[in-house]
Amino acid sequence: MYAKILVAVDESETSRHALQQAIELARKLSASVRMVHVLDMSWLPIGPEVAIDTKVLSAARRGVGENTIAAARDTARAAGFEAEAVLIETETPIQQVAETIAREAARWGADLLVMGTHGRRGFQHLMLGSVAEQTVRRSPGPVLLIPLPKGPPSA
Ligand code: AMP
Repeated sequence: MYAKILVAVDESETSRHALQQAIELARKLSASVRMVHVLDMSWLPIGPEVAIDTKVLSAARRGVGENTIAAARDTARAAGFEAEAVLIETETPIQQVAETIAREAARWGADLLVMGTHGRRGFQHLMLGSVAEQTVRRSPGPVLLIPLPKGPPSA
């Protein structure tokens, strides 16, 4: 049914859990998995008035992204699963992470997109938004959102 599963990964525990679940699903379906991390370059200051070396900032950002992809590769390897991993950058100063994930899903021909979700509410949601929510709106196909399992309710 699903043959190509794109998994959007960041550095969070939630994302690692979603990747592990996606791998188990892919194994059962004999599907291929592509892990993607998006470098958000939109926050880099631009313009001649900015006295910061943006090359240094973007190199630092790329370093963090490469670590995220390396961690995703480790997770797949630990599960004994062969998966592709790609690091892509937002293409324009206003392009968002969600839009970039959705474009990659369409470009690669994914038939399922898997991501974690923090399920933020109230003020946190207002301030931080939700990459998962924005991606669902832009995705060309179905999206499976996987939260971290909640612990048992306290007595
Ligand atoms: P949310 O908690 O709704 O903001 O969504 C978080 C999920 O979005 C993570 O678990 C990842 O699956 C995905 N995600 C967040 N940032 C990125 C990113 N830069 N690149 C790829 N996926 C991301």
